[in-house]
Amino acid sequence: MMKKILLVYTGGTIGMVKKEDVLSPFNFDELKTAFPELKDCGSILDHVTISEPIDSSNMSIHVWIELANCIKKNYTKYDGFVILHGSDTMAYTASMLSFMLEGISKPVILTGSQLPIGIKRTDAKENLITSIEIAASNIVKEVCVYFEYQLYRGNRVVKVNADNFDAFQSPNYPVLAKAGVKIKYKKQYINNPIVSEINIHTNISDDVGILKLFPSIKKEVVKAVLDSSKGIILQTFGSGNATTNNWFIEELTNAIKKDKVIVNISQCLSGSVNQGHYQTSEILQKIGVISGHDMTLEAALTKLMFLLGARLDRKEICKKIETNLRGEITI
Ligand code: ASP
Repeated sequence: MMKKILLVYTGGTIGMVKKEDVLSPFNFDELKTAFPELKDCGSILDHVTISEPIDSSNMSIHVWIELANCIKKNYTKYDGFVILHGSDTMAYTASMLSFMLEGISKPVILTGSQLPIGIKRTDAKENLITSIEIAASNIVKEVCVYFEYQLYRGNRVVKVNADNFDAFQSPNYPVLAKAGVKIKYKKQYINNPIVSEINIHTNISDDVGILKLFPSIKKEVVKAVLDSSKGIILQTFGSGNATTNNWFIEELTNAIKKDKVIVNISQCLSGSVNQGHYQTSEILQKIGVISGHDMTLEAALTKLMFLLGARLDRKEICKKIETNLRGEITI
């Protein structure tokens, strides 16, 4: 029996054309014309387009909610979903969807490309056709990103290259599959959920900020970010280290006293936060900064948006940040 796959088009380079020398999103029908091979891909394909296709740099909570609702509405009708998405914020969307789509046991594969589909050397065709094959495989049952022959867990990827076709990495978790002559799945790393009810969460909060440390950071900068939001990602050095200047620790302590949630994520691409390993992180642990362990910035930020949206109290949020909800963290 042929599998039914829903393609969800959100925009991005994969579906862009050059108009007056700049790349802007075009509609799905034009994409089908540029890629006639889609017709014989071995699956029954339907497609939907979000209300307004975008360059993914314009991604927002509203689009995430639209995408989650689209999956909810079509969940029982399709065997798998392929979301065509710009690569710039794909890691954020993949992470966010992993939290929003609780209990899914069908593949949701995000893909895109570095070159538009109409261009001869495009990477779009392979990315799309293999994503469809993976979505029809019945092996993967989670939110993933497929790009340049690699399948990644969605909440573990980071965009690392603006030019190369292999634009993504999963620095702290193995790839889930590699596509060569055959697609080789690494089943030991793929989620194997107990099939239960799906629970789609659409209450998410944008009351978050990122405070990236750098040598000689000014108090005004720290204060501005801490004052701006309820949840803050503190991007620290190395294994979670920060300046121990009194004024800095005082600002963080005051913010925590005001019920804010501060999550420690390393500026390093690989490895984990280890609060207490150095004196420069021990103090953070003492005052109540929460360790984000080995989460990517994208996973930590969207997890915080998801937990704040769920209206949990601070204690509960802090506990869940350090809990593995969807395979996003190694605890
Ligand atoms: N700016 C584009 C986007 O993210 C880049 C891409 O599609 O790869 O929508």
